[in-house]
Amino acid sequence: MPHLTTDKWIEAIKHKTEKVGGISIGEASERDLFYAICAIASEEMNKNWIDTQEKYRETECKQVYYLSMEFLVGRLLESNLLNSGMLNECNSALEAMGFDPEKVYSVEPDAGLGNGGLGRLAACFLESIASLKFPGHGCGIRYRYGLFEQRIIHGHQVELPDYWLKEDYPWETRKAEEAVDIHFGGDIHMFKKNDGTLEFKYENTDKVTAVPYDVPVVGYQNQVVNSLRLWSAESNSGSSDLLTSKSSQYFHHLDHKHSIEQISGFLYPDDSGYDGKILRLKQQYFLVSSSLKSIIRQFKKNGRHSLMHLPDRVVIQINDTHPSLAVPELMRILMDEERFGWDDAWEITTKTIAYTNHTTLSEALEKWPQDMVKSLLPRLHMIIYEINERFCRKVWEDHPELRDKIHELAIIADNQVHMARLAIVGSFSVNGVARLHTEILKKKEMSNFYTLFPERFNNKTNGITHRRWLLQVNPELSTLISDVIGPQWIQRPNHLISLLRYSNDVPFLERVSEVKLQNKARLAQFIHEKTGIVVDERSIFDVQIKRLHEYKRQLLNIFHVIHLYNELKDNPSLDITPRTFIFGAKAAPSYYFAKEVIKLINRMASIINNDTSIQGKLKVVFLENYNVSLAEKIIPATDISEQISTASKEASGTGNMKMMMNGALTVGTLDGANIEIRDLVGDRNIFIFGLTADEVHDYYQNGGYVARDIYHTDERVRRILDQLNEGAFGSQEIEFKDIFYHILYHNDPYFVLKDFDAYIETHELVEQAYRNQPKWMNMSMTNIAYSGKFSSDRTIQEYASEIWKLKRMD
Ligand SMILES: *Cc1c(COP(=O)(O)O)cnc(C)c1O
Repeated sequence: MPHLTTDKWIEAIKHKTEKVGGISIGEASERDLFYAICAIASEEMNKNWIDTQEKYRETECKQVYYLSMEFLVGRLLESNLLNSGMLNECNSALEAMGFDPEKVYSVEPDAGLGNGGLGRLAACFLESIASLKFPGHGCGIRYRYGLFEQRIIHGHQVELPDYWLKEDYPWETRKAEEAVDIHFGGDIHMFKKNDGTLEFKYENTDKVTAVPYDVPVVGYQNQVVNSLRLWSAESNSGSSDLLTSKSSQYFHHLDHKHSIEQISGFLYPDDSGYDGKILRLKQQYFLVSSSLKSIIRQFKKNGRHSLMHLPDRVVIQINDTHPSLAVPELMRILMDEERFGWDDAWEITTKTIAYTNHTTLSEALEKWPQDMVKSLLPRLHMIIYEINERFCRKVWEDHPELRDKIHELAIIADNQVHMARLAIVGSFSVNGVARLHTEILKKKEMSNFYTLFPERFNNKTNGITHRRWLLQVNPELSTLISDVIGPQWIQRPNHLISLLRYSNDVPFLERVSEVKLQNKARLAQFIHEKTGIVVDERSIFDVQIKRLHEYKRQLLNIFHVIHLYNELKDNPSLDITPRTFIFGAKAAPSYYFAKEVIKLINRMASIINNDTSIQGKLKVVFLENYNVSLAEKIIPATDISEQISTASKEASGTGNMKMMMNGALTVGTLDGANIEIRDLVGDRNIFIFGLTADEVHDYYQNGGYVARDIYHTDERVRRILDQLNEGAFGSQEIEFKDIFYHILYHNDPYFVLKDFDAYIETHELVEQAYRNQPKWMNMSMTNIAYSGKFSSDRTIQEYASEIWKLKRMD
């Protein structure tokens, strides 16, 4: 890549703002500079973007398409500059011109096209695919509104629309000439042709135009630029018929246009809950149909191969079941448009599609009412029906031992279409996202399917891109690391293991500790600006940032805080290491209990932070609007990473990996990827507590847990619950009663009370460990050293060699 020097950057920025933007550089705002830099960076990247796509076309290499309803990309300018090798010079230029680069970069809105881990995983995967020189692209939806913006007002969550496109989004290119038509509803007519084959004609469908907007995905200093293709729904009827229509038709027309544009209107703010909205089903079909049409069009461009060879050139990975209509839609295209018979179409489809499962929570397993599928997607309904008939017949004939299980296997059962079953039957690979999760799929949740298709099931433990989550967000630590082990870790994250040699090097550890302190001071400053709360950067920064869910147990965390507060009230001179508890979490707008927990955290923050009798030994901070940019500020400043889900519930977690990589120590249950973190660093370098997944399953199966018994025997627990019940923290007495009732009357379904004692005890160990700083820093460095395994580079290499059969473009 041709390098711009600092001087060239200054020149280019001046040129763009003055000559192109018409604003003198002396008058230019941070916003003006932001747009100028995006334009310069794009010019540098575009040649590589074109060359990369050309190379893929010419070599006819196999390509992966990652279909996902969510891509939580966050901001792109800084990472695009970093990956194109231009960040340092651009920073110097901005500083020389008297600007703070961070302020300029934060003009960019977060592209919040995802809820949490699943969407962020998709974004990390694209970065690693490009950085490892794999031919691969993302396919998603260009929602006009991303995940809502959260405000905390009087301690309550308030949701505001996230209109992230209100100003020009500098990274997207509209490709109007590559638009495709998508059809909903209508009537299906079947004809028997002379050769005996069937032909299907569709009439009276609702037509929607899908227009792609491409966003570049820049590999790390390797000239590769892949694409993230985001589809936008448009009504394609020209405006000329508007002029001639009567006013009633005019309004009808506007209604129609509005209902079409709704399809890419907003992201559903449910993280792992079932949402039965018909609009969501429309969105899923819209993504799948437009992506498949564009993939097939691309495949046919050189026209030399039959679609029988599609699986040699294309692999489609579906991120959870949300895009699993890809199975019947690919069948439909192959049969109705390409004139393949069922058996060939089925062979092509099931050799092309691979499925990633993200959850075993029953409320998150997608099911659609059969009637809804039938009226919205009549032809797909016929195909799903036929897939189900053939599948059930085969089970009946070939697997007599499963005959009484057919009801649990059937894709259509109880008048519902089971999307996970459709995805398993229609794909060649089914993977879980951490070892424990995959084992639960095989042995429990999907054991019948595992009996049928053992060769399809495999594990791909999640990862995060270390270039964003270490190199970019923690540049000072990255420099220290490169100083001692060299910079190879940036391309080969396993090299971080060389840090083990320095895990007892006191001068080095002191420098690392100094960087952590600076990061904490920066976050303390940010907290003060945003909330007015003063926190001590020398206190332990204990962090839980993730979507708010009962299974993630923010409630257990705040119970610990209340317990410490109670102890300090009893004994104000208690000698404890000062602690700052930091929370960030959005709750789905309709999730009542999650919002109660947010209220409780904020209430405890206002009580504790304003109680001078505890001499600032405890602080509680709830930072509003948790998103990628906020995560980037918090993670480098974290001492303790809270990963305390009820064992078996968190499929993998990726927040755990980001914080470990930045030297935080994990307090966690034996759940998801925490187990694999422990296996690497060893019990001495992690704080594990609580029930195991087997114990949790045992209680669910056989009973034997009575939350009330703990309430009666543990006076610390009783005190907290009574405080909630009696209104000790409420401005009204009834305020937190629901939490009390929920725990005691629904028998504490996520085992908060059951794990309470072990959790408190573990935190006592944490405090003791923190008092021995050399030991703490040794533990911290050990965690960083082993974190290379959790780079998404490792994950993507596994997908590429074991599922996708993809070759790097060297
Ligand atoms: C990494 C990330 C998540 C996932 O966090 P978990 O702790 O694994 O649930 C969610 N949201 C954002 C913004 C993230 O960056």
